[in-house]
Formats: sequence, C-alpha cells, structure tokens
Amino acid sequence: MREIFVDYANACPVDERVFSAMKPYFTEKFGNPSSHIISKGNEALKALDESRKTVANFLGAESFEIVFTGSATEANNLAIKGTAFKNINKDKKHIIASDIEHFSITSPLRTLELDFDFKVDYVPVDNDGIVEESALRKTLREDTVLITIQLANNEIGSIQDIKNLVKIVKEFNENIIFHCDASACGGLIDVNVKELDVDLLTLSPISMYGPKGIACLYIKKGVTVKPLIEGGFQEAGLRSGTENLPAIVGFAKACEISKLEMNERAKYLSRLRDKLMDGIEKNIDFVHITGHRTKRLPNNFSFWIEFAEGESLLLMLNYLGVMASSGSACSSNLRARDEDELVASPVLKAIGVPSDICTGSLTFSLGMKNTEEDIEYIIQIMPGIVNRLWQMSPFYLDKIKGHTPKMTKVDK
Ligand code: PMP
Repeated sequence: MREIFVDYANACPVDERVFSAMKPYFTEKFGNPSSHIISKGNEALKALDESRKTVANFLGAESFEIVFTGSATEANNLAIKGTAFKNINKDKKHIIASDIEHFSITSPLRTLELDFDFKVDYVPVDNDGIVEESALRKTLREDTVLITIQLANNEIGSIQDIKNLVKIVKEFNENIIFHCDASACGGLIDVNVKELDVDLLTLSPISMYGPKGIACLYIKKGVTVKPLIEGGFQEAGLRSGTENLPAIVGFAKACEISKLEMNERAKYLSRLRDKLMDGIEKNIDFVHITGHRTKRLPNNFSFWIEFAEGESLLLMLNYLGVMASSGSACSSNLRARDEDELVASPVLKAIGVPSDICTGSLTFSLGMKNTEEDIEYIIQIMPGIVNRLWQMSPFYLDKIKGHTPKMTKVDK
C-alpha cells in the first residue's frame, strides 16, 4: 500500500547529509570534550566549539549565548524555571504566556503557580491564533518578570509578530525577560534572535531534518538563568552532563543545510500545501481552516470539518496509508492520563472553535519527501472518508436536509 507521511511537525527523518556528519562521532571520534588534554577529547571539544558556532550563526547569535539541551522541552523548562528561580527573591512573581503555548511551557508554568507562588496570566489570541496586542498591554504589571510567546504554532501554524510584541513589552519595562519558543519553526521560517530582539529563544533541529535528543536555548549576553541540571559544569554550568556530541554535530549540520536551502524548501512546501488546501476546500463542505491564512508555517495545513471527528479522520486516513496528526502528538498523551476522555486541544479552544460541532481537527504538515502525487491522492480519498463519517452522524444528517454537499460529486 502507498505510504504518505504528512506529520512532519511531529517527526522528520534525519537528512542523509546530517546522518553522515554525525556517524564518526558515534564511532572513531568518540572523545569527551571535557577530557580535552588528551587528543581524542581535544578533537571532540573542537567539534563541540565548531557546532556551537554554526548554531549560533544560524540564529544570529554569539557562540557563548548558546546552551545545548536534551530537547526543546528541556530548553523551555530552563527558560521558564531558570528565569523564575533566578528572580524568586526579587518579589517579581508575575509571568505572562500566550494562550496557545506548548505543554513544555504551560506545565512548568503550572508548577511555578502551584508550588512557588507565581501568578501566571495567559494572553488571548484571536480566531486566527494571533496574540492580541491590546490584551498583552493590559496584562503587563510592575512585578512581571517573564513573558513567553511562541514564534509559530505546531498545530495551526500561525506565526506571531514577535518583534512587535517585544517592543510593546520593553517599552513598558525593559527589564522584563522575553522568551520565545521557536521549536516548531527551524528551517521553515527565518529565526534570527537579533531581528526578533528576544532575550531567550528555544530552537530544535527536528523540523530541519536534524536528530532528536538535542535542542538549544539562546541566552542573550547579560541575561542570567538558574541551571536546572547541576553537575560537572558543562555548557558553562547551565546544563551539566556529558554532551551528546553526535547529536550536537547533527544539529549544526542541519542548521548549515537549512541556511542554504530554507527558501527553496519553503517555496516547494507552500506550493504543495496550497494545492492541498485548495483541493480540500473545493471538494468538501463545512471545512474550516484553522490558523492564519497567510501568516502561517509554509508546510502547515490545519482544519476541522463539521461533524467529522478528528481522531476518526486520522484513523481512516491511516488505514489508507496517509499519516497525519490530530492536534499535537503531546496533546494525544492527555487522553491516556484522563482515562480515555477525549480532550479538546487547548489551541482549538483558544481560537474559539465551537466544541459542539468540532470534535477535533486535522493537521497536515508536509515535508520535502512529499510529492504532487501524494497531495493528489489525499485530495482524492478525503471526500469518501468524510462522507462515511457524516453518514454515522445524526447531527450531520439533520444539518444537511435539503442540501447537496459538494463532495458527493467527487464521491460517485
Ligand atoms: N514547543 C513547540 C512549539 C513544539 O512544537 C514542540 C514539539 N512538538 C515542543 C516545544 C517540544 O519539543 P520536544 O518534544 O522535542 O521537546
């Protein structure tokens, strides 16, 4: 059977060139950068330094501003808790986040509220998933210590105007630390810390065909955070533990390639995405696109269909060889924790999707291995799948009395 993977927001294959760059660091170049007095260690230290320089260059930062972590989740935790703990005695215990942040932001924020007496306010987004500036202005307080707003959303693809949001915050108080989670954006849109003017920024190589198990936190010169993992003083004491050098080398290679190929990739992906979006909208009724029409990641198409449940769509697509996503991979873990209750994505709630007629969305996130034929196949099979789900929904049958849905044309 044909296999079409369109869940690149949750997993990307490692680029062969990245894999080749990593391989020697598993085998012959296995040294420990901390043992740099001996040649093997020195070779490793050089690779570590070079990789840090490449990642820094990708972000428009200096090498010493980059701290490697084990994941974007860890980098986000370091940004959030590291800033909070650094300032815990300064009577500044107010934090602001957007309403559509990833769990790796909202979970540590919840801990800070529950266990450390911080107050967190969430700034709403509009129906396109864009942070409301006026609401942000109103939320700022004298004791605000940190703001965290993502650059783009992994589910609905909306891209925030971070530069402008930073300006609003810094005009209010230049000492407020601004963190930006750019984990969903690497290699898809430009991520430049100077352009964005942020204090802290999380980057992951996953979306740029780099390895898993590595990410970084950019920490602007002069900004300090308290380390969460203490030990042998690697990463300037901010993240102890022997460095995952193969992954760090792979991260750097992915940055190097992305810098050269990003524009071409974005052009290719957005062309395929637009074709898919067009095909689905034209051939199926009651489709609602989520996220901003234009300010969105080039590979993202997310939507929901009235009376067609997201997980059922996902399963039926999977049965026909198409692997997409319903919400983020992390929000699907919520279901298990909540003992089989279907949990609506907080992102859908935040953008005001009506929960009575929306039972989950679908995200197609495209990658460089996708082809025109893949897109045509998805456009061809979707109407039939939706029709089957609709036939099982009494609410739908009620709604369409006397109405001939567009898709029946395709489905004959
Ligand atoms: N932030 C965002 C916006 C993400 O999309 C993700 C991954 N889905 C993360 C953080 C966490 O990344 P990881 O699971 O690789 O740590």
